[in-house]
Amino acid sequence: MSGTQSVRAAAVGAVVAAAVAANVFALQEYKSGIVWPEPKVVVPGEKPGDPPADAIVLFDGKDLAQWTNGDKWEVKDGYAVVQKTDITTKESFGDYQLHVEFATPEKVRGAGQGRGNSGIFLANRYEVQVLDSFDNPTYFDGTCGSLYKQSPPMANVCRKPGEWQTYDIVFECPRFGPDGKVAKPGIVTLFHNGVVVQNHFELQGGTYFDRPASYENHPDRQPIRLQNHGDPVKYRNIWLRELTPIVGKKPDAKE
Ligand code: MG
Repeated sequence: MSGTQSVRAAAVGAVVAAAVAANVFALQEYKSGIVWPEPKVVVPGEKPGDPPADAIVLFDGKDLAQWTNGDKWEVKDGYAVVQKTDITTKESFGDYQLHVEFATPEKVRGAGQGRGNSGIFLANRYEVQVLDSFDNPTYFDGTCGSLYKQSPPMANVCRKPGEWQTYDIVFECPRFGPDGKVAKPGIVTLFHNGVVVQNHFELQGGTYFDRPASYENHPDRQPIRLQNHGDPVKYRNIWLRELTPIVGKKPDAKE
């Protein structure tokens, strides 16, 4: 660099430094103009999987009083064991986040769909399959973590028989128009043992063994049902949080 060049570079440097000091490069903050309500404060569970403060606890290991036919299942040592019949929540729910823990029988018996089979019926008719899929081949859209006969899980993350596993489900109930036809399909996202296995899956209708999926008109709020498939699957720590969309107001929008 020549003497003249270095003098010029120093001068440019001084101008830049002055500009930074004067904050002339500060960015203009973008504001959407939408007036948002303040997000409510929710105290999370102490450990992952524990119910947050505003959760509706459906089974805390003591009794199944919140379930129709809950008295038909055995409850002991903080868990419930599938027996005799399906059980159904007495209350109905619309869109929600659902946490369920389950363990397929430690004593392995049967094969395919006949091993550690149960299920979680969202809105009483859309089955998230529960199955012992640890070293137990079956049709892929009937594997543990499938939406039964509609969508196999993206991965098989089953733990060994007898080990506790988690499902975290986000469910949007389908909506039906005045004509009784589906206006907005049901949506399911599922984490199995913390791994996403269904991502915003659009339900094709009710999940059936003997016929294709199809929608039947039903109210927006429905109970949750746990399946008896003849296998002593265990359940514990079941809770949900209803989804409340946060809605902002645009200042220029008419009331
Ligand atoms: Mg099942």
